[in-house]
Amino acid sequence: MAHCPECEALMEIEEDELEEGQEVICPECGVELEVINANPLELRLMEEEEEEEELEEDEDLLDEDEEEEDGE
Ligand SMILES: [Zn+2]
Repeated sequence: MAHCPECEALMEIEEDELEEGQEVICPECGVELEVINANPLELRLMEEEEEEEELEEDEDLLDEDEEEEDGE
């Protein structure tokens, strides 16, 4: 049994069935927890990795040919 580090709810999970790196979800608050240690049981909040999709840099096509010559 373990307590959710987020809402401190008692989570009915058995250490024997857990492995390091396994994800468990708190039934109370729904937060995702990662098992960082099975014995003794240690849970860690999984941080959602938000990918920043801000495209600040324009796609600079570095053409080495600066002179565009259309030979027509
Ligand atoms: Zn919780």
